[in-house]
Amino acid sequence: MDVEKLIRPELTTMEGYAPIEPVEVLGQRTKLPPEGIVKLDGNENPYGCSPKVYEALAAYSRYHIYPDPEQRDLREALETYVGMSRRHILCGSGSDELIDLVLRLFLEPGDEVINCPPTFGMYPFSANVCGGKVIDVPRIDGSFALDLSGIKGAVNSKTKVIFIASPNNPTANTVREQEIMQLLDTGRIVVVDEAYFEFSGATVASLTPNHPNLIVLRTFSKWAGLAGLRIGYGVFPVEIVNHLMRIKQPYNINTAAQIAVLASLADIDYLRDNVARIVAERRRLFGRLQELGWLRLYPSRANFILCCLRHHSDTSSFGIASEAKQSDSAQDKLGEESHAKKIWRQLQEKGIFVRYFDSPRLADCLRISVGKPEDTDVLVEALKDVC
Ligand SMILES: *Cc1c(COP(=O)(O)O)cnc(C)c1O
Repeated sequence: MDVEKLIRPELTTMEGYAPIEPVEVLGQRTKLPPEGIVKLDGNENPYGCSPKVYEALAAYSRYHIYPDPEQRDLREALETYVGMSRRHILCGSGSDELIDLVLRLFLEPGDEVINCPPTFGMYPFSANVCGGKVIDVPRIDGSFALDLSGIKGAVNSKTKVIFIASPNNPTANTVREQEIMQLLDTGRIVVVDEAYFEFSGATVASLTPNHPNLIVLRTFSKWAGLAGLRIGYGVFPVEIVNHLMRIKQPYNINTAAQIAVLASLADIDYLRDNVARIVAERRRLFGRLQELGWLRLYPSRANFILCCLRHHSDTSSFGIASEAKQSDSAQDKLGEESHAKKIWRQLQEKGIFVRYFDSPRLADCLRISVGKPEDTDVLVEALKDVC
């Protein structure tokens, strides 16, 4: 009996998502204790969550009862934070779950999803799992701005959803409201992923009541330090909330995550101070990396910085036209690894983890999460050594 034959054929060949590894695994690999590891690969919050979260979780006594399928307390609390009626709000087990749910709601087999790389890998991943077809419209060389005319040109009768991350991961730039307005005019579902909103302050959430095709996704993973509890939310047109409510897993938000969000929102000044610390450190990290003199840094409105090795990015840089040349020089040279990948590996040996992407366009780049000031210092000293 060949069970493989029973699997949806398009899934047997699909590439999986390349996730980051837990600290314990990184520690074993480098033979360092978890405390000896500088983890700058997951855009996680170096200050952790609010101490009120631990208190609230410890004080709660009804973990044996199922959570509220309608997420009432949570959506009510978010009403104030988001500045929008709870009728527009729905939570997911991480915003990753909402990406999947939105695609499940809109995609029929063969329907198309527009993706603007380099960007977050979960959009093509979930689109493929949901039976959709991913249409890539790469961001523009050098600036990583959206190719608006390219996107509009790619829209056809099969196009259902357009994904835009703002700030974008891994390029850290935002899109302008006027660009989103143009995308909304296509009449397709436009998902604006604002996972890093708290670090940028830029949002289009207030447009949702007047635009039936706009969805804004947010998360507690980054700014509130709750990545391990998996909790995100979306701001949707009311109609879409009602449909998603019907198709989601009834108990998708676990009780611990609900408690953690309520405790976080009740301790918002503490969390905002940490966001301010990270934003200040982003500036300092940028300056220190720039002083090295051999990195091209992209301005960041998130909690990470994309930096690329100078010799490639300063010529005609990244793009479709130069893609072949880029991968020639950077990656495929007799299977040799790129300089950035070498640096990434050398940093790992010192217990410093940053993110490297195995894509031709980012072959000479690293994404570095903003950590504490001491993390910046350790990283910069190590970079002086490796190069
Ligand atoms: C981290 C990240 C997410 C995932 O958030 P979760 O709520 O942890 O699932 C979503 N979008 C982007 C762009 C991200 O970088």
